[in-house]
Amino acid sequence: MKYDRILIRYGELSTKGRNRKKFVDQLHKSVKMALLPFPLAKIEVKRERMYVLLNGENETEIAGALKDIFGIQSFSPAIKLEKDIDTMKETALKLVSSIYQEGKTFKITAKRVDKTFSLDTGEINSLFGGHLLKNIPGIKVDVRNPDINLLIEIREEAVYLSCETIQGAQGLPSGTSGKAMLMLSGGLDSPVAGYLSMKRGLELEGVHFFSPPFTSERAKQKVIDISKKLANRNGHFVLHIVPFTEIQQLIHKQIPENYTMTATRRLMLRITDEIRKRQEALAIVTGESLGQVASQTLESMYAINDVTNTPILRPLIAVDKTEIIKIAREIDTHDISIRPYEDCCTVFVPASPKTKPKREKVQFYESFVDFEPMIKEAVSKVETIIIKQGEKMDAEKTEESLF
Ligand code: ATP
Ligand code: MG
Repeated sequence: MKYDRILIRYGELSTKGRNRKKFVDQLHKSVKMALLPFPLAKIEVKRERMYVLLNGENETEIAGALKDIFGIQSFSPAIKLEKDIDTMKETALKLVSSIYQEGKTFKITAKRVDKTFSLDTGEINSLFGGHLLKNIPGIKVDVRNPDINLLIEIREEAVYLSCETIQGAQGLPSGTSGKAMLMLSGGLDSPVAGYLSMKRGLELEGVHFFSPPFTSERAKQKVIDISKKLANRNGHFVLHIVPFTEIQQLIHKQIPENYTMTATRRLMLRITDEIRKRQEALAIVTGESLGQVASQTLESMYAINDVTNTPILRPLIAVDKTEIIKIAREIDTHDISIRPYEDCCTVFVPASPKTKPKREKVQFYESFVDFEPMIKEAVSKVETIIIKQGEKMDAEKTEESLF
């Protein structure tokens, strides 16, 4: 027996009162984007649920496309029926029989949204449970840990039957929390920070600092490949690549060595903030995690954060590296991040960066240099790339050919 649609349950939307319409509209857009490769599928949007009518498209492939969409709590392939008890009994029996194997157990989960329906949930459970027990030889009930959970959902317009519930990506629909800039290095942390903030409904644009010839095209390609993974969550991903060589060279000429790292971070933040203004975003996201490296002590953050009042969001601040690696694997950025190409910070890293820099000192050292024109120039020379959902990695840039 084949399912004819997929029923999509909204995540936290229901708690958001006034924003509900915006959230549902955005989720609708995300689902539409994800279903572009399935032209026959149709989307039906309701207040409480969304339905994807399969119209002959492959159910498993569509489920795969829905799995990554933020704002979906869970979804179930389902069959829609009229509210006629005989038809419901017959279809329930067909559905469960089609997946039943000897020795399997079942339970019924009834949900009655339409309170005018003639049976209450207890009556539905016993009527349908009895019907299955009578007609499927050997089947047993297990209410705690059943192999088959038959969902019978009675809504105003119809009844939906399903034996499967798949967990969605959760979170809030893309873009419903506004826009922020993601400082994206090629490392493990920042893509994970990006993923987690997208999950909370942020639309992100990436900013990457690039210092040719000290950092290679391959290091840049890493960031582009990571951006492709993020694009699949966002619908698309805008990446700003900032030429940073001259500024880094100037820092190394003018700032005492143990303060170069602090000054570099401050300049990266100032430039990111300029791009943020231009792109009309309201926050900056980084992959910083407390205590992980010299630049991520509280003293460092205090000295670096000094250059802007813009909210800096650090989703990983209290997350351990092992957990970060686990998420990086789940979102498929791990293997890209561990490619061995240096980014601009690693190349210029001083032998012993200050782990407890003083804000006043770095301000003093920077006061001898007018960085402003160079910041303007770097911003004006930013290369912006727009990466669309579903773009594949170029064959010639696969892992193997990179070495
Ligand atoms: P990551 O794994 O994200 O590279 P990290 O543990 O290497 O982080 P740092 O090198 O101290 O830590 O960088 C801290 C944060 O600064 C990064 O998570 C990222 O948000 C930002 N950052 C570092 N290098 C760059 C870069 N080249 N371009 C843009 N942002 C960067
Ligand atoms: Mg790094």
